[in-house]
Amino acid sequence: MFFLSRDQLRQFEIYYQFLLEKNKLFNLTSIIDEDEVIDKHFVDSLTCCRVVDMSQVSNVIDIGTGAGFPGIPLKIAFPHLYVILVDSLKKRVNFLNELISLLGLTGIYAIHGRAEDLARDDIYRGRFDLCVSRAVANLNTLSEYCIPFVRVNGYFVSYKSVKGLEEMKNCSSCLHLLGSKIIYVDDFALSSQDYRRILIKIKKCENTSNLYPRKAGIPLKNPL
Ligand code: SAM
Repeated sequence: MFFLSRDQLRQFEIYYQFLLEKNKLFNLTSIIDEDEVIDKHFVDSLTCCRVVDMSQVSNVIDIGTGAGFPGIPLKIAFPHLYVILVDSLKKRVNFLNELISLLGLTGIYAIHGRAEDLARDDIYRGRFDLCVSRAVANLNTLSEYCIPFVRVNGYFVSYKSVKGLEEMKNCSSCLHLLGSKIIYVDDFALSSQDYRRILIKIKKCENTSNLYPRKAGIPLKNPL
């Protein structure tokens, strides 16, 4: 359970207005109705706290963050977090940098790059208590992008639709190769009811072999 202060609610309002304004110039989201943005972007992003005690998390990396989901709502709601947002599209990273300064947030950085490349950099590899990712790739591809960033005994939370349940059936050998395993699956309806969210909580049990992630593009073309 957590509460949002007036200032935090104001930050969400500013986020919404800025998203709408920039969405007219380039594609950031297909959801623009205010109530839907609240439900399907803001509240959805925060559901991670159903499966992870955020007070025990110091740093988070969000892979394929797009317009900042789920990383920016998590930073607004849990300001103690040090957050890295990663996206391979420069325009989106520029948007995020403008948004971060508009919201007056500190301890949050938007990085332009591909997960496969950044995960080989010692600054990022094996450093994070928590990795989050929503709507980026199939679970096997995504795990190869995300698990290398997580420290041993840290977590990767994958935000999935019902398709995630299918994807989970084929992921155990992939997760084993990456030194990790699924420890919890949360399956629930968001407040709009028509929108089902599956959160897959994966624990990193041992260091990931230096073989992973493979070169940029390979995890997508040829998933583990
Ligand atoms: N996570 C956001 C959300 O849920 O609204 C954005 C989802 S969008 C469908 C997928 C994003 O992942 C895009 O912004 C894309 O540029 C980014 N992306 C895809 N593959 C990536 C990779 N290998 N490394 C970094 N970003 C990637």
